[in-house]
Formats: sequence, structure tokens, C-alpha cells
Amino acid sequence: MPLHLKKHEDKRLRQGHVWIYSNEIDTSKVSLKDFTPGDAVTVLDAQGKVLGSAYVNPHSLITGRMISSHADVDLTLALLTERLTAALQWRDTWYDQPFYRWVFGESDALPGLVIDRHGDVIVVQLNTAGMERHKALICEAIKALVPVKSILIRADSSMRSLEQLPSYVEVYAGEETASTLIEENGVHFEIPLLQGQKTGWFYDQRDNRALLKRFVAGKSVLDVFSYVGSFGVQAAVFGAAKVHCVDASDLAIQQVHKNAKLNQVDAKVTAEASEAFTYLRRAKEQSQRFDVVIIDPPAFIKKRKDIKQGVQAYHRLNEAALQLLAPGGLLVSASCSLHMPEAELIHAVQCALAKQGRHGRLVHRGQQGFDHPIHGAIPETAYLKALYFQCD
Ligand code: SAH
Repeated sequence: MPLHLKKHEDKRLRQGHVWIYSNEIDTSKVSLKDFTPGDAVTVLDAQGKVLGSAYVNPHSLITGRMISSHADVDLTLALLTERLTAALQWRDTWYDQPFYRWVFGESDALPGLVIDRHGDVIVVQLNTAGMERHKALICEAIKALVPVKSILIRADSSMRSLEQLPSYVEVYAGEETASTLIEENGVHFEIPLLQGQKTGWFYDQRDNRALLKRFVAGKSVLDVFSYVGSFGVQAAVFGAAKVHCVDASDLAIQQVHKNAKLNQVDAKVTAEASEAFTYLRRAKEQSQRFDVVIIDPPAFIKKRKDIKQGVQAYHRLNEAALQLLAPGGLLVSASCSLHMPEAELIHAVQCALAKQGRHGRLVHRGQQGFDHPIHGAIPETAYLKALYFQCD
């Protein structure tokens, strides 16, 4: 049974967006109750013209996600293999080693699916009922395309509750792997998988981390929200004189120490488990200063209703970070909140500068890397900002 859209509700889809909201569906022609979560359906506009195929979840506000511009298409093994192959080829164009986000959902024509490739350890995020239903086929396609030691399913993202899906973590294939080794920008990391954050590593910042190379030699670096030392340990390897990492998670901090050792920079890297704002306040009281301050917090704005409060948090964070920045230093200010536009983040840094009577120059505006492509019709796929401010 096809899914009919209301009048004019085909416009966004014709532009290339893939989401169908529940209020865009003509429920006089079709009852959502007739669909099971994950069903594939043909989508028609109000005139009955074919728009393509989508998989649906009647329990979700985003009721449909387009998977093809043809009628009667489902996510078969052949189609999944074709899309995984295209995504793989793109990553292999940019990266010499198999450490990257292999699939970035909607941008790779696989809405609701995220796959990170940590060498032969593959981590799969199934964020929708449509992808949950195709778990076995997805894993089969993965195994046929690349050497696999284990496939870990991280079905515990917050998006799943919007789909009314249960939260779980599962070793789908191969051995249980608590941690694994990856390499980024020539630096080695052991990353936690079962207890780690999300898929274990944030590949989206790779290019923004690499940029540190130019600036950090001989400098002191503060990495706040450091996770396992992604920015900080790389800065140390790139020649920083000393690096201090701060993160609220004990596990992350233990891992910073291990990663510093792994790269023989443990003599220059210190790390402490602390809440970021508490640390920043204390460091200011002690008149500490750093040549480079990196702030890469978790998304302060998760939903639209949090925008006001979240923007204020970015302002407070940038102010506190700037207070620790030595004259002539570099502030790297990142945000992964979709609802925090780049201009708003620039404004937050600028307000902090003005308040402290300082001048700064925006010398680089980083975004997510090649393995997190932005879908031109889906603004929701462009989320990462990393601003480099050189400050007097
Ligand atoms: N900079 C890291 C990623 C940061 S993800 C990278 O490039 O990989 C956000 C990190 O912030 C997580 O490691 C989380 O443990 C930590 N975190 C979350 N809230 C925090 C808080 N209030 N204070 C300090 N760390 C926090």
C-alpha cells in the first residue's frame, strides 16, 4: 500500500531531503496503523505521482525516510552492498588507513545508519526502526566487503527513543572487544568500545586536530572535554611542550594516560578528571595560562527548546576558556550542536573577547571531515564547527 502525501508536502523531498514528517501524510488515504515499523513503502504526491520509496515508522515524528527515487524499492542486500561500497570508495580516496566513519546516515543514502570502521572492528549505530530491521543484512554486507574481527552494535543513541526502540549494546559478530587501536594523523590511540562514548572515537574532528601541527611546537596546551586525548595527545606528538587534558569521565582520563604512553609523550601530558567549568574557574584563580586552549564540549543544545540556555552555556564556556589563554595564543572553540550556527559561535567568542578587552582574529573555520559529508538538502547533516581564534 503506498503512502500518500498531502498537497505541497512533496516540495522538500523533490529538493532532495529525505524525511517525511507525520503531519505531511494524507491519512484520509492511508492509515499509519497499517504499517509496521521498518516497512518499505512507495511514496506518492497529492496527485498520485511517484516520488520514490521510503521506509516508515508510524511511531516516530519522522515517519518516513526516503531510500530511493524509484517505486517499490526496499533495502535489499544488493542495495545495501551498493551503498556501502560507494561510501567505502569515497573514504578510501581520502584516507590511507581503515580508520574512519564509513557511513554517515542520510548523507550516504542510508538514513538512520552510522558505521565507524576502526580497522577490523566495526561499530554500527542503528538509529531507526528501518535500520534495526535490516541489522542482519547490514552486517552481512559489511562482512562481505571488509576484513572483520568483530561487529559491535551500539543501539543506544538518544535518537532511538524517538523511534520507540529499546536501547542496547551487542557484540553481533566475532569476539567481544573492550578496546581497539586506531591511528589518526600519525598518532596512535587505544579507544574504549563497550564503555566508550558513542562509537568510541570522534572522527569528525580529524582535520581540525591535524591543523594543530602548525602551531603547537614548544607551546603549552589545554584540552578541555578531552575524551581520551584526541586533541591533546596529538598536540603533544606534534611537539607541544606540555599538555593538560580535562574531562569529567574517569575512564576517559585513564585512557589519556595510556594514549600518552602509547606515543611516548607521557612525560609532557598530564590529565585530570574534573567538571569543565569547575576546572576552568579553579585554573583562573590560580592564574594559570596556556598558549593553546581547546574546548570541544558535548552538544549543549540537543533540542530546539534548549537553544537559549545552550547559547548561554557556549558564551560562559568561551569566556572561561579565554581567561586562561596567554597573549598571542590560539583558542580552538568547537561546537557539535546542530542548533548552534557558526555565526552564533563566532559571536560567543567575540563577546568573550570584548568583555575581556582583548582582540582576536578568526583565522580558520573548521567543519566536519570528508567522512561526514554534508547533504546539500539536509541542513541537519551539517553540525560541526571548529573556530580558530588567534588572540592578542
Ligand atoms: N574533544 C573530544 C570529544 C569530546 S566529546 C574529541 O575530540 O574526541 C565530549 C567529552 O566531554 C566527553 O569525553 C565527556 O566525557 C566530556 N564531558 C561532558 N560533560 C562534561 C563536563 N561538564 N565537564 C567535563 N567534561 C565533560
